[in-house]
Amino acid sequence: MVNMLTSLAHRVLTSAEVVAVTPIGGSAREVTLTAPEFGAWRCTAGQSVRLSVGNGLSLRTYSIWTHSGATLVLRGFSHADGPGSRWMAAAEPGVRVALTSPRGVFGLDPAAPWHLFIGDQTGAVPLLAMRAALPGSARVHGALVAADRIPPLGADLPWCLDGRLLDAVRSLDLPDEPGAAYVAGEQKACLAVRQYLRDERGWPRRSVRVSAHWTPGKRGME
Ligand SMILES: Cc1cc2nc3c(=O)[nH]c(=O)nc-3n(C[C@H](O)[C@H](O)[C@H](O)COP(=O)(O)OP(=O)(O)OC[C@H]3O[C@@H](n4cnc5c(N)ncnc54)[C@H](O)[C@@H]3O)c2cc1C
Repeated sequence: MVNMLTSLAHRVLTSAEVVAVTPIGGSAREVTLTAPEFGAWRCTAGQSVRLSVGNGLSLRTYSIWTHSGATLVLRGFSHADGPGSRWMAAAEPGVRVALTSPRGVFGLDPAAPWHLFIGDQTGAVPLLAMRAALPGSARVHGALVAADRIPPLGADLPWCLDGRLLDAVRSLDLPDEPGAAYVAGEQKACLAVRQYLRDERGWPRRSVRVSAHWTPGKRGME
């Protein structure tokens, strides 16, 4: 059964090759993949791909850092002791990996009057990619909470090197009217930020977009 499912999954996956791996601080590594099929992909900032890891038996999700032609760049951490972290720690040029095409509805609201970015270290990957996709004139607030900062893609966001997402958002001096909030990282911390924005600041539900990346004890979140 496992073999059947694995072979089915591989029929809809793209095979890519790792062409570069660059350490970017802490356990973070930037992994550059190439495949001719990437040239036909259309991605929006905030989307992700799923990598087939752990001898092809597990899928783990990674936000797209950049995509251009046949090249796709991801940023992976080795925070956990699972197949995704092990793959990220061991990736080197020449390694092949199968992956899904870009997916996910997490992304910018271009009509928002202003934008709020809140996330932890894994959340920083899609949030900084989304931040970079905004025009220079956009009104932006935010905070990234992580033990180590990772280099941005153009414009950065303020980093707090410890604390909780909820404390970080509470400490911000935000405009009175709601904007669009993008919250990414550990599931419960993200939901606490959404609840704060809705209950204490009166934001409409649709104005807060959440991407849960991980939570203690749960393996391979989608
Ligand atoms: C939409 C989405 C986008 C994502 N984007 C990225 C990305 O760009 N870069 C990236 O590195 N990861 C990203 N992730 C997380 C990634 O998919 C994996 O969950 C992560 O790499 C851990 O995988 P694993 O197989 O090592 O551990 P798993 O088997 O998935 O988890 C094992 C346990 O490790 C712990 N754990 C998992 N993640 C963390 C963490 N971050 N910090 C502390 N403990 C943890 C939990 O207790 C979990 O139960 C994303 C996840 C989602 C859903």
